[in-house]
Amino acid sequence: MTDTQRETARDDRWYLPKYDTVEEERQHRKQRLAASFRLFGKFGFEEGVAGHITARDPEQLDHFWVNPFGMSFSHISVSDLVLVNSRGEVVEGEGGVNTAAFAIHSALHEARPDIIAAAHSHSLYGKAWSSLGRLLDPLTQDACAFYEDHAVFDDYTGVVLDVEEGKRIAHALADAKAVILRNHGLLTVGQTVDEAVWWFITMERTCQVQLMAQAAGTPELIDEEQATITAKQVGHPLAGWLSFQPLYDRIVKEQPDLLD
Ligand SMILES: [Zn+2]
Repeated sequence: MTDTQRETARDDRWYLPKYDTVEEERQHRKQRLAASFRLFGKFGFEEGVAGHITARDPEQLDHFWVNPFGMSFSHISVSDLVLVNSRGEVVEGEGGVNTAAFAIHSALHEARPDIIAAAHSHSLYGKAWSSLGRLLDPLTQDACAFYEDHAVFDDYTGVVLDVEEGKRIAHALADAKAVILRNHGLLTVGQTVDEAVWWFITMERTCQVQLMAQAAGTPELIDEEQATITAKQVGHPLAGWLSFQPLYDRIVKEQPDLLD
């Protein structure tokens, strides 16, 4: 990266909080991550022990923070999060890590140095839509966040337990913000935890809307030109980050113990 590119990247992310120390940045990321699990729990994205959201450590860039295996999303606090290294070992915090979480997320974090976070769960509408093995259409303004910015991983071979499959998912995702894992569910990424989690929430709802609209009739699509313009507006990392802020405030107010 040249100095000019570095400056441009900084300018593009003017809205992000500034930190004096790496510890502050880590704490901020962990707070956003714990809040995200509470939101996933609140929205009913849980299916048994499936699902994981990860946040890259700001110092050890090949390590990530994740939910401890088997703990309800609705009970997760900052102090429950575990730090996993590049070999899948828990190096901080108590509890294990879901094998699938490591297999998928370690490959994603390695393939996409630009992303800080990745979110995946077996949410109902995402799972239903994933069985169709096709991309979402630009049916609504919100759906345009994914216009030409998501992919389908069209290769279901059972529970992901192998890093090699994680690599193939990362390959399918390429430089997009989301990938539909066929017969499985949704996966989203972002430059912040806030953004990755917002994309997940709005993608789940986008799947619900398309399923409902198609069940009711033949929806009108937003044309290519308008979808492209709208994608730049609602699909920008800033838009994703911004949309998460009221949700964060709401869940912290409702469940302040998540910060413990
Ligand atoms: Zn899964």
